[in-house]
Amino acid sequence: MNLQDECFLYMCGIIGIINSSDAAEEIFLGLQNLQHRGQDGGGIVTAESGAFHHHRGAGLLDIAFPPENFKKLAGSMGIGHTRYATTGKKELSLLQPFVDSQAGLAIGHNGNIVNYHAMRESIRQSHPDALASGSDSELILWLLGQHWQHTDRNPAGLLESIQYAASQLVGSYSVVGLAEGVGLFAFRDPNGLRPLVVGRREDEGKVAFAFSSESAALEFIGFTPLFNVEAGEAVIVTLAGELLRHRYDVANIRHCMFEWVYFARVESDIDNLSVYQARFNLGVQLAYQVKQLGLMPDIVVPVPETSRIAAIALAETLQVPFREVLIKNRYVNRTFILESQSARLEAIRRKLYPVSSELKGKRVLVVDDSIVRGNTAIKIIELVRRSGAEEIYLASTCPPIQSPCYYGIDFPDKAELLAGKHTAEDLPQVLGVDKLVYQTMEGLESALQTDKLCKACLTGNYPTDVSYGESFSKQRAQEREVAAP
Ligand code: SF4
Repeated sequence: MNLQDECFLYMCGIIGIINSSDAAEEIFLGLQNLQHRGQDGGGIVTAESGAFHHHRGAGLLDIAFPPENFKKLAGSMGIGHTRYATTGKKELSLLQPFVDSQAGLAIGHNGNIVNYHAMRESIRQSHPDALASGSDSELILWLLGQHWQHTDRNPAGLLESIQYAASQLVGSYSVVGLAEGVGLFAFRDPNGLRPLVVGRREDEGKVAFAFSSESAALEFIGFTPLFNVEAGEAVIVTLAGELLRHRYDVANIRHCMFEWVYFARVESDIDNLSVYQARFNLGVQLAYQVKQLGLMPDIVVPVPETSRIAAIALAETLQVPFREVLIKNRYVNRTFILESQSARLEAIRRKLYPVSSELKGKRVLVVDDSIVRGNTAIKIIELVRRSGAEEIYLASTCPPIQSPCYYGIDFPDKAELLAGKHTAEDLPQVLGVDKLVYQTMEGLESALQTDKLCKACLTGNYPTDVSYGESFSKQRAQEREVAAP
């Protein structure tokens, strides 16, 4: 499944580098390896002799960063961000990193602040001009700045400011930042919901450090991943090259299981587990269930792209041929920019073609990474059925998604989620399949080799207070209405 077909995304990619001979160029190359986490715009901020240089642009990075814009991005340290439009809004003012030149701070944020609207309302009572952009990332910068202006501008003062900001925030946040006179910093929410990894590079005696959402981006620019920023931890690399770690809050680790299931690149390790390995394990776990149900497919077919690794593992375990016979037309526009439901369905039909000769008369096991609203799955099953498949089984590498996410993936309300509005018995008929196989919770934990996972969209048990969630959802819905063409 392509999640963009099914819901709005709040995902982003972040990166930060210090002691580089050309920070902007390296950040750009790193961001290109995080482009899958955000394709609507990007930005880079570099620091040089006490000044910030800044460029943000809409669209894919190649478009957002014409070569002439690099000239102004001088400096040996900087941060970068690539963004998905959260609500359909794509104003330049929402692109990151955000900069507060007066405070000497800049940040890029991946995540979602659940209490943003409540905090913004309260802050604007005393500071009517604050938080004009409507971005929760601006709130993080504002909170940091409020504390930072009253502290000594040194690493200890920065750590205090991070602790102050974090104490006000509820939700998910992995942050990279620049602090004038101090260096590069990063911090991660106490649940460690979104990933954040630290890398080191030594080249002819010159040591550089970098932070990134994913290890693949660091490795591409020659850094070796050192460690993950831990839940509730802040890390600073000073201008002198000293690396400081500080736990500012008690960790209650709940890594988002969806990073492995769907988001992250298969080349990355997320919190010490290879994404490739995780998806392979998910396929093996699914195969056990397919066996238990006594299903005997003739072929295993992945829904491109994310489910491919799991489908390979499933086919290998079952010893059934793996066939890529749903072919993607890569030139069709991404479907989430099409706002109406009917337009999205039409777009799915236009971008996926079945190879009928391979499907005709076969018992086909279709493998998808997850099922959200189910519209994509229904359409795909329809395509496979029309191609003459004799029986169709659908296997999802993720257990049923039944509750909204407030931490970065805007899964719709329960009423719109397929598994939220139908009983397990009804689902096969609704989807038009002969058998539906969902990953079990045990299978998921076994595949991801931990139980320290956020599974709130599967269980409805959230790792943070989500009492702000309802107003948050309403606000997002309103923003979407305003933004819709
Ligand atoms: S609710 Fe689901 S998608 Fe959201 S952070 Fe938790 S596991 Fe990830």
